[in-house]
Amino acid sequence: MDFYWIELVDVKILKESAKKEVDAQKKRLVEIAKWMYENPELGSEEYKAYAMLTEELERQGAKVERQLLGMPTAFCASFKGKKGPRVAVLAEYDALPGVGHGCGHNLIAASAIGSGIAAARAAKDLPGEILVVGTPAEEGRGPSAGSKVVMADKGFWDDVDAAIMLHPATRWGVGGKALGIWQLKMEFKGQTSHAAASPEKGVNALNAATLAYMATHMLRQEARRDANLVIHGIITEGGLASNIIPDRAVCEFGVRSSDEKYLVTMVDKVEKCAEGAAIATGAQVTVKKAKLYSSMKPNIPLIKVLWQNYADQGVDVDDWQETQAGIPMASTDFGDVSQRCPATGSYIGIGPDDTPGHSRQLADCSVTKEGLEAMMIGAKALAMTLVEFLAKPEILKDAKEYFNSH
Ligand SMILES: [Zn+2]
Ligand SMILES: [Zn+2]
Repeated sequence: MDFYWIELVDVKILKESAKKEVDAQKKRLVEIAKWMYENPELGSEEYKAYAMLTEELERQGAKVERQLLGMPTAFCASFKGKKGPRVAVLAEYDALPGVGHGCGHNLIAASAIGSGIAAARAAKDLPGEILVVGTPAEEGRGPSAGSKVVMADKGFWDDVDAAIMLHPATRWGVGGKALGIWQLKMEFKGQTSHAAASPEKGVNALNAATLAYMATHMLRQEARRDANLVIHGIITEGGLASNIIPDRAVCEFGVRSSDEKYLVTMVDKVEKCAEGAAIATGAQVTVKKAKLYSSMKPNIPLIKVLWQNYADQGVDVDDWQETQAGIPMASTDFGDVSQRCPATGSYIGIGPDDTPGHSRQLADCSVTKEGLEAMMIGAKALAMTLVEFLAKPEILKDAKEYFNSH
């Protein structure tokens, strides 16, 4: 009994020390978050943020692998103790066109390096390895688009015991869900002809695209209601002049669902809509389809630990069971990480509830007193959680079991 008590106290002390180590870096973390806000870089071009983050990690004693897996702005920084579990915190640092850090990735970057460095200092006597992984182009732009998927495909996450991160939002929560997403591009080929003088000689590719567009939307009626199906599409090309029957038309669709298998079924159905429209009009169609991001696979043992480390700091964090019961809204390449190793995300409240995502307003929230304070609380929650993982390996064992059985 005594031994157990001592062990508990030790973890508590370690976590307190992780928090202090985050506080000790406050000036630098705020500087980094503000600098990135002032100097936003688009996905796959985050060279300055990449240099700043890797240099800071190296200065703090991490061994940094640059250009991870051939991606020019990806990195993996490692703080390694005696042989033990490998736990990771993920950084994102890409901005958006027109709205700068309108997704708040400047706070993800600052909190990731702050928590990694703090946890490494606090847990320096524990066996194990703490990784800070730099994952560029989350918003899907350029050659490193969806870099976490590239890493997943190359097996990078397969020997990671737990991966965590945070994302700015307008509320506090842990274990947010995400939809898997596929993209489809339908290219219809017909025959041009004079639209009035010789319409019978034409094959109208726009009619084919319109039929495919309508048929795809009609799929909604029969959609499984528990699978959170979302279909959104546009017609990107539909002819050059109204007196010519168009010989080329193009549609693009995004198909999303929380159920990976059902998503494949629905993508096949959308493809059939294109084929049917081609048959009906006599046009030819080529469908290009690609999986973008996987849905988020929740890991309850990790969620509970991270949630507690937010709650213990007195923030009003959403009940994690309610979050799990809620509807997933968007998609992220972090979903692919969660399909490969135990992983959970969290969100931090940086501004008023009515602030839209991907907006100039959200970017501005990231550098207010409230936003920067939220970043510090988030960094502490992540740091405490990393330390707790190394101090109590049974959590990682539970997480692995949960991962394998769900
Ligand atoms: Zn975003
Ligand atoms: Zn984002």
